[in-house]
Amino acid sequence: THSLTKPALTLYLAAPRGFCAGVDRAIKIVELAIEKWGAPVYVRHEIVHNKFVVDSLKDKGAVFVEELDECPDDRPVIFSAHGVPKAVPAEAAKREMIYVDATCPLVSKVHIEAERHSEAGLQMVMIGHDGHPETIGTMGQLPKGEVLLVETPSDVAGLEVRDPSKLAFITQTTLSVDDTIDIIAALRARFPTIVGPHKEDICYATTNRQAAVKAIAGKIDGLLVIGAPNSSNSKRLVEVGSANGCAYAQLVQRATDIDWRSLSTISSIGITAGASAPEVLVNEVIDAFRDRFDVTVELVETAQENIEFKVPRVLRMPA
Ligand code: SF4
Repeated sequence: THSLTKPALTLYLAAPRGFCAGVDRAIKIVELAIEKWGAPVYVRHEIVHNKFVVDSLKDKGAVFVEELDECPDDRPVIFSAHGVPKAVPAEAAKREMIYVDATCPLVSKVHIEAERHSEAGLQMVMIGHDGHPETIGTMGQLPKGEVLLVETPSDVAGLEVRDPSKLAFITQTTLSVDDTIDIIAALRARFPTIVGPHKEDICYATTNRQAAVKAIAGKIDGLLVIGAPNSSNSKRLVEVGSANGCAYAQLVQRATDIDWRSLSTISSIGITAGASAPEVLVNEVIDAFRDRFDVTVELVETAQENIEFKVPRVLRMPA
């Protein structure tokens, strides 16, 4: 009967969304390591920030720990996609452990930048989020105190630098593109000769996912970002939605997190997923909307991605 008709809903599906090349590679590294060396294979920190991914790797024989001292000497250990301070592989080498570094090549590139600037006598300023493993890993490429952290434009005023004419900056790869522009402007205003990358070190995946959210933000009554609460790039997608006019923007780990009461009167919704969120969770969320609404899916694609990173050589060779 008519009263059972579901309300109409246009679901704007952002593209690109979900897995990036660095996440894809990191997951493959764990899977290949288990194939090569057998279980258990230890992983230092969540390989990527997603519970669903971590749980499925646990089922295959991965053991997740926070620090190297929780690993035995005689099992392989993998370092997460976010990168690690130099002291970590140094410690693994000292203990003669087998280790594989799943740091995303785009994060390693920032590590190399930091080292290069430091060798040229420049003190580093990092734009990043305090306590995030990528920030810890990148700052840990240089001796303690060599990298100063700023999180906001107002942090710039408080920087105490060695020599204002000998500075360079780097950034975390998963920042908000728009917020970072403001921080870089504040740095350049106070330190006109500061050296930096052409734009920033924000990666293609972060940039593309944010651009896709901007493209749908004006059309939607609400935005759901599928991602983990500790995923930096996912949290930024929620902020980009809010900053671009979404009155309702929420992070959800999966369909069971959706607050249907808040969405009862909507006629459109935007869906995207952070770089560490698998597509099965996107499909789960879309299905949950189909259960409640008469859904029309509109794909909004603002870029195409065809980047792929090779796994380390040791995992490309037969066992
Ligand atoms: Fe690499 Fe960017 Fe993915 Fe991070 S978000 S793993 S930097 S591609």
